[in-house]
Amino acid sequence: MRSIIPDHGKTSQYLALEEQYGAHNYHPLPVVLDRGEGVFVWDVDGKKYYDFLSGYSALNQGHCHPAIVKAFVEQAQRLSLTSRAFYSDQLGEYSRYVTHYFGYDRVLPMNTGVEAVETAIKLCRKWAYEVKGVKAGKAVIIACEGNFHGRTTGVVSFSSDPASTKNFGPFLPGFEVIPYNDLDALENALESANVAGFLVEPIQGEAGVIVPDDGYLSKAKALCKRANVLFIADEIQTGLSRTGRMLACDHEDVRPDILLLGKALGGGMMPVSAVLADDEIMLTLKPGEHGSTYGGNPLACKTAMVALQVLKDEGLSANATAMGELLRSGLNDLGSRHISIVRGKGLLNAIVIEHSDKDAAWRLCLELKENGLLAKPTHGDKIRFAPPLIISKEQLLDCVQIIGKSLSCLD
Ligand code: PLP
Repeated sequence: MRSIIPDHGKTSQYLALEEQYGAHNYHPLPVVLDRGEGVFVWDVDGKKYYDFLSGYSALNQGHCHPAIVKAFVEQAQRLSLTSRAFYSDQLGEYSRYVTHYFGYDRVLPMNTGVEAVETAIKLCRKWAYEVKGVKAGKAVIIACEGNFHGRTTGVVSFSSDPASTKNFGPFLPGFEVIPYNDLDALENALESANVAGFLVEPIQGEAGVIVPDDGYLSKAKALCKRANVLFIADEIQTGLSRTGRMLACDHEDVRPDILLLGKALGGGMMPVSAVLADDEIMLTLKPGEHGSTYGGNPLACKTAMVALQVLKDEGLSANATAMGELLRSGLNDLGSRHISIVRGKGLLNAIVIEHSDKDAAWRLCLELKENGLLAKPTHGDKIRFAPPLIISKEQLLDCVQIIGKSLSCLD
């Protein structure tokens, strides 16, 4: 697969550089980008594409959003980093802003998504020992099969994906993995008094946009509450208007005990993640027990405030809902025999490809690229369609037409 290197223009030179000097831990499409604006990106040969991945949902506000760029540049020229050894004029402002925005007592700022997940694990364990009264060293966190919460050794310890775990052990104990979208399994697992938390993606993004049954989240939250177990929502991919509501949990009026945000919180400019919780949980952490050199830096704080403001100012939840419906109905109307399933919520969508060739999804993505649309397969036969949330109706219909035309490469 790695050998698909076009020999035109500058593309092949850049591909060769990454191929020779970079670790081979990704399998990118052979396209080299050097510019982005709104829903579009351009390659080094000047060809324009729709971005249907949006940096795995880190670009909900679109590429190089002018208000976010302005805030980012101004702050970068004033003060970028203090570390948490000192206060900054941005962190307090941001903390008030983000906690009021989502309705929590406190925020713990980190950088990448997986750091937010690691933070939640530590916080949940601390709460279990110091508030719930679980015996030392016995706390258990329940996670779901098919999960994707990031790549650290701690987090892959409860992954069910062999690509995430093979030859990376030994793993961290203290996790129980149950089937996703299975309330009976959750109820059984919650019977142990050692259970501290239930960590769940409201929609499993990396697994191929697996949308659970209506009522799953609200019933799971109620079961956790009854068992005095923290409901931890990983909204790193599903949050921030992506599924048509500010949080995917909002679809079921669920308020997580611990809320994890990342990706689009940094407005596509820089890694910014956040853990939100109330005092009873967050104040179990004392100075020196957790932190990060860059976490809560002034540049991140300023950028995140504007990134969040843009979601509201531009009504991106409502647009994600409307454009998502248009996309799914457009894809269904194509009536392609190569698409077995169209699923998703808002603008987090996927199609499942039906074909005798196991590389059909990859081939379709190459054809989409030729026709001016960038998307990436996940888990072999699924392709995620998740454009920036600012996409217009006209652009979206154009994309459906590109997808329809490209599908003929599989005939
Ligand atoms: N959690 C979820 C649901 C994700 O989709 C991802 C990344 O795709 C992560 C966590 C990890 O985020 P990061 O890559 O920023 O560490």
